[in-house]
Amino acid sequence: MPIKVLQSDVVSKIAAGEVVERPASVVKELVENSLDAGATEIAVEAQGGGVELIKVSDNGAGIPSSELELAFHRYATSKIANLDDLDKISSLGFRGEALPSIATVAEVEIFTQTSSRTVGSYMYLRKGEVIRKESRARAPGTTVSVRRLFRYFPARLKFLKSANTENSHIAHLVSQYALAFPEVKFNLVLDKRLSLQTTGHGDLCEVVGKIYGSELAQRMLKVEQRDGPAKVSGLTSPPSLTRSNRNYLSFFVNRRWVHSPLLTRAAEEAYHGLLMDGQHPIVVINVSLPPQELDVNIHPAKAQIKFCQEQVVFSCVRKAVEEALGRTPIASQKAVSFSANSGHWQSPRMIMDNEPAFLASQLPTLELPVLRVLGQLANTYIIAEGPDGLYLIDQHAAHERILYDRILAQWSQQAVEVQGLLQPVTIEFSPREEETLKTSKELLAGFGFTIEPFGNRSYLIRTIPALMARANIIEIITALLDSLASKESLNPWEERAAQSLACHGAIRAGQQLSNEEIRELIKQLEQTKQPRACPHGRPTMIHLSAHQLEKEFGRIS
Ligand code: ADP
Ligand code: MG
Repeated sequence: MPIKVLQSDVVSKIAAGEVVERPASVVKELVENSLDAGATEIAVEAQGGGVELIKVSDNGAGIPSSELELAFHRYATSKIANLDDLDKISSLGFRGEALPSIATVAEVEIFTQTSSRTVGSYMYLRKGEVIRKESRARAPGTTVSVRRLFRYFPARLKFLKSANTENSHIAHLVSQYALAFPEVKFNLVLDKRLSLQTTGHGDLCEVVGKIYGSELAQRMLKVEQRDGPAKVSGLTSPPSLTRSNRNYLSFFVNRRWVHSPLLTRAAEEAYHGLLMDGQHPIVVINVSLPPQELDVNIHPAKAQIKFCQEQVVFSCVRKAVEEALGRTPIASQKAVSFSANSGHWQSPRMIMDNEPAFLASQLPTLELPVLRVLGQLANTYIIAEGPDGLYLIDQHAAHERILYDRILAQWSQQAVEVQGLLQPVTIEFSPREEETLKTSKELLAGFGFTIEPFGNRSYLIRTIPALMARANIIEIITALLDSLASKESLNPWEERAAQSLACHGAIRAGQQLSNEEIRELIKQLEQTKQPRACPHGRPTMIHLSAHQLEKEFGRIS
């Protein structure tokens, strides 16, 4: 085909696709518009995952009737006027793309009134065309209703997930904006059910409590760094409070919600040596910078930004989090104390720093030989002797393997041992977790969890799998919901569930074990199908053969 300039209707569909990827993108654009309009109250409602209806109402500045059609023109905006403005954007929107894009892929109703005494206006658009416009009174502010999203875009519709999953994206998104704007009162209703409500009192800790539960919020540490080139403020979790994925790290730059690997790394580096592998903190942080110090115009949905001085921002954030954790900003080495059941070790690092040639994955056989336990190292590794040399076993990874095999075996035989709780445990889910819970209730029941609604996103846990009896139940369930909601893994859900349960139910590194417990652990490990690797595929043990030992000590060459 020869090269041709595309017709404008094709162009607008392509552009709409960049802005409106899924229902949550519509919510994002509308909420940002409300915030830009100075709203102090924003109500969001969605039905059918947002495909049937998305409705966002605010009490912001409103749009004058004379400008209403213009608001739906591509690149029509009241937020910037010239090229210079583009370098110092302080509003969330600036491209004038959202309303026209949404109107291209859905039916839109807008009902708006400015604070002046003129009457409000109502307008209805289909496929981007104004079908009706009339005067109608309402309180100052704007309501935009979006119906039948992607109806004429079957390809897009096909890519959407279940209504519950789309709802959970919406819940997550509104939660993020509520965190970024504690002084704005947010109200989120999903399929006629109140999912989130904040007070607008301006207290970040209170908002964190509404989203993640007040118990968690009370444990958060304050982050405050006012006198650097970048001002950093927010809340961060103590090292004892973690999650098994990065869904609980929220970053805002000038209160714009951003996905920033740089900020994630900066915050996580502050926890260096404090968290177990695979554990992540809970972080809510806003970075304030002069608008000239960043470029917000590099991503269609404005979800990514570019800092002019990345290194400066990085160290400001890391330092702020380190100070919140009460640490000196010099990253400290992992402090390990070495007590072994059979005496004290002077310099165990020599063993731990061994070359990868000793990794278990290189061993040809899977079965374990009979092992004689020598002791525990750093309350983390078990030292044992076998017919052919020394074995260092990671107690957490080993127990994970044992639990994983047992959980899956019990599950597949539908013979999960269930333990009732004398005192049911109350748990408050975040709006997003609640949406995941709804889709995975049966799965959880299959694994032995009985969870009953208790009103207001609170739930009662009445039974748990007996294998998890010693673990922290709330932590286990939130981690389980996280892993079920994650899109990253392609493993079947029962495997993911078993992995998550095993990981959180297993004994931790740093836990002292008696000789009896160690022997029991090894005995159980011997009985698993794959004793040498944990369910994540990491080795459970390092083997130093007699030959390798002799070589290391120069007894043989
Ligand atoms: P942008 O936000 O990039 O300016 P939009 O297409 O999202 O582009 O909106 C176009 C214009 O419509 C905005 O610049 C603003 O003037 C007006 N507008 C949109 N939503 C609202 C609202 N909720 N309240 C007041 N004005 C609004
Ligand atoms: Mg906008």
